[in-house]
Amino acid sequence: MAAIYVVLSPGGTVTWKTTEYTARTKLCNTFRDFGAGSEAYTKCPGCGRELPLVVFDLDHIRAKARYYHGYLGPDTSIVALDAVTLRPADVRVTVEGGVVRIESGSIYNAKVHLVQSDVIWENDLANLQFLCVSCNRSKGKQTWDEWGKSLAEAKPLAAALP
Ligand SMILES: [Zn+2]
Repeated sequence: MAAIYVVLSPGGTVTWKTTEYTARTKLCNTFRDFGAGSEAYTKCPGCGRELPLVVFDLDHIRAKARYYHGYLGPDTSIVALDAVTLRPADVRVTVEGGVVRIESGSIYNAKVHLVQSDVIWENDLANLQFLCVSCNRSKGKQTWDEWGKSLAEAKPLAAALP
């Protein structure tokens, strides 16, 4: 099974705010001048247009209902990334009963965060992609394949990791 990639927030846990900030500032490294100065842009996997990043949403490729339920177990590979380097952080990640335990620090001064499985799912960079607002509006609540696409056409953000 493919690994899950999450970015650790400054506090050492997983939050949508950190995930979205990291995606928008570090996982799109192409720039073009569309008439308002140089700005980040990417190609929409839905319509194929190259557009400024500001008109993209973060889209969940696979729908929640069929992705995360019963998905996290002791065999799940979860890579917790340092928000600055985007390399694996110096933490211990374990899955216990569907809850993810993220430990940092020493045995004398341990920091432990318990993260619910749905939060891990929501923030998984392997299941998130940039999708332009018009495609995202058209896709609505459908999942990527219901919208007529194959998973091979998706552009997961995890592919942009260093
Ligand atoms: Zn589009």
